Amino acid sequence: MARELASTPPGWDYAATLTEAQARIIGAESASGRFGSQVKLLVATKAWDAAAAVAVVRAGASIVGESRLQELEEKAPALRAAGAKIHVIGQVQRNKAQIAVRHADCVQTVDSLALAERLSRLCLEAERDLDVMIQVNVSGEDTKAGVAPAEALDLASAVQGLPCLTVTGFMTIGLNSDDELAVRLGYARLRQIRDEALIRSERGELPLREAWELSMGMSNDLEWAVAEGATIVRVGTSVMGRRDA
Ligand SMILES: *Cc1c(COP(=O)(O)O)cnc(C)c1O
Repeated sequence: MARELASTPPGWDYAATLTEAQARIIGAESASGRFGSQVKLLVATKAWDAAAAVAVVRAGASIVGESRLQELEEKAPALRAAGAKIHVIGQVQRNKAQIAVRHADCVQTVDSLALAERLSRLCLEAERDLDVMIQVNVSGEDTKAGVAPAEALDLASAVQGLPCLTVTGFMTIGLNSDDELAVRLGYARLRQIRDEALIRSERGELPLREAWELSMGMSNDLEWAVAEGATIVRVGTSVMGRRDA
């Protein structure tokens, strides 16, 4: 059954919530000695209808993240017309990969070679290139998607070898906890993987990239993620509001 999508609550001001989120990011950057707005804001628009997603883009969001491919299919034409970059941030089931290939600029959630091969094949047919990120399960919780940290770099190398795909970085969903140390340990793990990727690319084992993206941090912990080196934070609730508000 299709889920019902929520519409913008009366009086909700996306420009204001975007400004607040940007201010948090800039505050976290300067608190950790990072300057120059290196961190991008992705707005997670899952469960919000196309009009709400378009409204947040018009208010200034340049990247939106969709978690459910069925929803992406509904909203993509409107999002595209509004000029947003679209990232897939939820699990891609085999039979939904085609939706991602049709509409996404980046699939952040590649966690197996089988999924990457399927995306690659579909991209080849569609004659398009696709950015992908390797999703890593840094917390080791078995409810979370993602490849084990020790396998992330080998997967990145294998995926990079496939036609039409470009690995742009690593993504993780952090530990859902208010234990700062535990959450940051996970984010630091993703950063170590990125640092190892830099070494491998200098050795010629991975293509040279000026920077690998680190997609980590959400509404409730983006400061910790920025402190650990995030280059993309994925913010839903803080910008879009609570669905049941
Ligand atoms: C929904 C979602 C987010 C945003 O979460 P909030 O807590 O609402 O900011 C980030 N990442 C992923 C993968 C999500 O599904």
